Amino acid sequence: MTITTDITIIGGGVIGLLTAREFLTTGATVTIIEKNALGQESSWAGGGILLPLYPWRQADAITRLALQSLKLYPDLASELITDTGVDPEWTPCGLLITKNPDITAATDWCSSNAISFQQAGAEFFNCLDTQAENPLWLPEIAQARNPRLVKSLKQDLIIKGAIVHEHTELTAVNVHNKRVTSINITSGQTTINQLDVNQLVISAGAWTGQLFKQFFSEFACDAPKIAPVKGQMLLYDARPDTLSTMVLDGDQYLIPRRDGKILAGSTVEHDEFNKTVTTAALDRLNTFAVNLMPALKNYPLIKHWAGLRPGTEDGVPYIDKHPEVGNLSINAGHFRNGLVMGPASAQLMVDLILNRPTAVNPEPYKLCRKA
Ligand SMILES: Cc1cc2nc3c(=O)[nH]c(=O)nc-3n(C[C@H](O)[C@H](O)[C@H](O)COP(=O)(O)OP(=O)(O)OC[C@H]3O[C@@H](n4cnc5c(N)ncnc54)[C@H](O)[C@@H]3O)c2cc1C
Repeated sequence: MTITTDITIIGGGVIGLLTAREFLTTGATVTIIEKNALGQESSWAGGGILLPLYPWRQADAITRLALQSLKLYPDLASELITDTGVDPEWTPCGLLITKNPDITAATDWCSSNAISFQQAGAEFFNCLDTQAENPLWLPEIAQARNPRLVKSLKQDLIIKGAIVHEHTELTAVNVHNKRVTSINITSGQTTINQLDVNQLVISAGAWTGQLFKQFFSEFACDAPKIAPVKGQMLLYDARPDTLSTMVLDGDQYLIPRRDGKILAGSTVEHDEFNKTVTTAALDRLNTFAVNLMPALKNYPLIKHWAGLRPGTEDGVPYIDKHPEVGNLSINAGHFRNGLVMGPASAQLMVDLILNRPTAVNPEPYKLCRKA
């Protein structure tokens, strides 16, 4: 017998997982449909910096969700550790930003959003080689370790009773009288099941625009403009304490994990649904990394991967109930900031569906907004 849960979520990346968790805490029952294994796409591939890069240059709507998430992360991380035993490695290791030509905008943004900052002195550059310009040290900025975060969320959802269908793809949506009544899901080559639906949330990352085009094109609102944007990353097997803080240098960065491994990222490539890694990106990222931190030459480069960010033009996600299809919602399009905006986006999605007051003004995240 197939159980019809209160909420069905398409896509088990960090956005779908956090949305599921938020619903479960309200007592709702939840099903997650994921075409691969949970959390193995963009949410696995990312860097986990819990601050948008140069947030003062970005839309205020990104700041609003990021700041709300920053309040939620410490409790989220400690609850995940207690409930699952898997540590998402939320680590407030601080962020050094080496070049700030717009230092006044940067410090104004920090001051007005209660983000601590100080000018970074020479002691921050002992192991770094770069042309600094008004370097800024943000001591409270944290990171999460992507693969650990998604693993702990998966574990937590299973413990909390979510029904999880991995390797199962949404292949059709059945709509009657402006309500989704059921969906077709396919696992493997041949099996097609029909699943009845109460509320459907689409959190399919970079694939979300396609799904809306495919299933909801007859409705007034245009499909959300979400396109894949490839990001490549490198991983060095460095010793613990080789680098103690995250470093943003121009448009690239280094992120030290607790076990010493150091990530160098990332590229921003508009290349459709292509996750192939390239030698050109490897050379570029490796040159950046060893120039910035010469000690990295001593450590093996052990991994090179790519993920597909769910790109929107201004980086602002779509978090909304569909204006026409009564029980359809979207939580997708977080581009470069899905980890940092994730907890607040999940909270907003659930508040909207449950008609509760929202912590963040929902207006900028509307599905039918212009561009
Ligand atoms: C290199 C790189 C660096 C990044 N660095 C950071 C950072 O430092 N900080 C930060 O906050 N963010 C960062 N990001 C962005 C962040 O990773 C993303 O914004 C976030 O992971 C998006 O999560 P998601 O759940 O929407 O998408 P995904 O993780 O892609 O999940 C979507 C899921 O939907 C599934 N799906 C798709 N179609 C279907 C279907 N038909 N049926 C069932 N399932 C389906 C997919 O298989 C996938 O698992 C980075 C991303 C990359 C690639």
